[in-house]
Amino acid sequence: MTRKLAAGNWKMNGTREALDELQAMTSAHPEPRVDILICPPATLLLQAAALSADTPLWIGAQDCHSAASGAHTGDISAPMIADAGAHAVIVGHSERRQDHGETDEDVCAKASAAHAAGLVAIICLGETLAERDAGRTLDVIGAQLAGSTPDSADAANTVIAYEPVWAIGTGKVPDIAQISEVHDFMRENLTTRFGATAANIRLLYGGSVKPANAAEIFAVGNVDGALVGGASLSAADFSPIITALEAAG
Ligand code: PEP
Repeated sequence: MTRKLAAGNWKMNGTREALDELQAMTSAHPEPRVDILICPPATLLLQAAALSADTPLWIGAQDCHSAASGAHTGDISAPMIADAGAHAVIVGHSERRQDHGETDEDVCAKASAAHAAGLVAIICLGETLAERDAGRTLDVIGAQLAGSTPDSADAANTVIAYEPVWAIGTGKVPDIAQISEVHDFMRENLTTRFGATAANIRLLYGGSVKPANAAEIFAVGNVDGALVGGASLSAADFSPIITALEAAG
């Protein structure tokens, strides 16, 4: 089985002084038993990757364009992210889907671009509260998973993050049975499509993961780690989440 993954998404937070938090994280976990990834804003990518080069901490970006280069003002391509020394890129975060109108097709193209550049694509999926209340969660997740995951996906280059939109940054977390239902469903779907490699594609839960609830979430079957927003901004909060994931075995 691929190692579990504790991934942090700093979103549009952090100036250079935030790099001290990366150093605090690596000092606290010199030989982690899980993979650790931090996705800082693009302005810190190069410096964060250089600082982490000789440590177990991986650095990732928060988005990429689907093209390798071209007239796309303000965008960053997957080869540029790889060139900066990053290991991974988040694609299809619900904030990108909402704020920038990204479709499953867009996300799939971005994930393909990430694979072509040798990056791990962290593909995000999640239902809104209205979709959950309407009993449509599995339909929505099934469609997003199918539409956002390229044929090039395998256990080495792809991570799927289930992030209910209503749980992101809200302090609300689905109950354990709800997380379990979606993660089991995603595993089954991936197995049907990709066969044996699907058993090792890491499935992360994301949405208000904190030190206080991490252990309970990590005990759920088919949860192979977390994508963490707010609680990844400081080593003081992220470190106990890493420790909880290590303890989950
Ligand atoms: C996220 O942005 O991916 C996320 C899960 O945020 P938070 O942990 O703050 O809810």
